[in-house]
Amino acid sequence: MLTKTPKQCWEEFAQFMEDCCTATEFQNWIAPIKVSGNSKEELVLEMPNIFVQEYLLENFKKQLENFLPTKANGELALSFVIATPKKTAVTSKASPQPMQPANEKNKSLLNPAYTFEHFIEGPSNQFVKSAAFGIAMRPGKSYNPLFIHGGVGLGKTHLLHAIGHYTMQHHKRIKVHCITTEQFINDLVDNLRNKSVDKMKRFYRSLDVLLVDDIQFLQSRLNFEEEFCNTFEALINQNKQIVITSDKPPGQLKLSERMIARMEWGLVANVSVPDLETRVAILQHKAEQKGIKISHRVAFFIAERIFHNVRQLEGALNRLVAYSQMMGLDVTEEIVENTMSELFQKAPHKRVSVDNILKSVAVMFGVRVSDICGSSRAKNVAFPRQVAMYLAKELINDSLMKLAASFGGKTHSTLLHAWKKISRLIGKDETLRRQIQMARRNLEN
Ligand code: ADP
Ligand code: MG
Repeated sequence: MLTKTPKQCWEEFAQFMEDCCTATEFQNWIAPIKVSGNSKEELVLEMPNIFVQEYLLENFKKQLENFLPTKANGELALSFVIATPKKTAVTSKASPQPMQPANEKNKSLLNPAYTFEHFIEGPSNQFVKSAAFGIAMRPGKSYNPLFIHGGVGLGKTHLLHAIGHYTMQHHKRIKVHCITTEQFINDLVDNLRNKSVDKMKRFYRSLDVLLVDDIQFLQSRLNFEEEFCNTFEALINQNKQIVITSDKPPGQLKLSERMIARMEWGLVANVSVPDLETRVAILQHKAEQKGIKISHRVAFFIAERIFHNVRQLEGALNRLVAYSQMMGLDVTEEIVENTMSELFQKAPHKRVSVDNILKSVAVMFGVRVSDICGSSRAKNVAFPRQVAMYLAKELINDSLMKLAASFGGKTHSTLLHAWKKISRLIGKDETLRRQIQMARRNLEN
């Protein structure tokens, strides 16, 4: 028998994960991991940071076990090293100056609601939230810069301000400045006009934490890029913390190579659209902040229909609250349907294949695709098989005979029986209903 090297095992695992994770999950948790060294006995993984290591072990241990060799004692032949930052740090001799008044002024620039306490975690943002929190606890000591990217309304500014609040609160002697890229450019223009650029430079270079929102706006103002880049380097070289948000990853920004390379020095983290459960939690949390309570059912009802971004979700909630207060009505699903049906979004339907369903269900239940397509009647295999058959009938417009055949040559009556059974169970079993809903969304989006 040919034995695979640990590196090959890892490559196969990564390939498998790429097929069954969402692109964001893969990009955040698997892609940054590298194989270190050439050991034949065990797989040594170089992890970008401890969060990724913990996440991998907590969430994908089962899958790892399917791909990696084990040692004589039965444990996985796997060990980790944490990658050292690419840049050689230059230690600052200057001690941070006490600059309370500046911080007081800055606090007012931060949205008071954008704190870590009000940020709801889910699989789409867990990584970036831990990284942001890590930085807020120890600014300048871990990843520098932290680069947060993702689509509109997904919480980038919220996290940036949360870092601002936390650092100001917990490190009294640290000077923090939060600014939009537009604002930075405007300041620079003003200072150029007033011949006070040196003063501005001194100000920026005296900061301990610089938070820059929406760096993509630097793309259209390229003559300011150099000044930004100089400020950036001056701070990084003194181990001052920089956090940047953007609507795209660094490599996709139309900026100089120098600037892109600087932004890739530290940790690049992606925030994506929250899944259904997280959207429900966000809605309930926001409602509570506004002093009203919405039932889980209502939150679910809205979150199932609005899924592009959190800002829209919040807009819907505001509208609902205003309406129900004006009319003196309780918030019910019916009111929701009447007041905001036009806000509800239609899912872009992707073509779903039996293959994708099999992979997704296999991961959901921790079984192998080959088991689902096999003939075992053991419950731990038969049940996932029935769920996969149910999803196939629901999501794929093909003959039952053809669909059943894709499950390792089952008959159409087996498939129909599975579909009926799961349909019935969904009505009774809330957990199963949600599991299936989630699988559906992942497959269709
Ligand atoms: P972005 O900067 O990515 O466009 P924002 O940070 O402005 O998005 O977020 C838009 C709105 O959504 C804000 O009101 C923010 O509080 C809210 N929001 C986004 N993600 C979350 C989350 N995970 N938990 C709570 N609120 C969130
Ligand atoms: Mg923003």
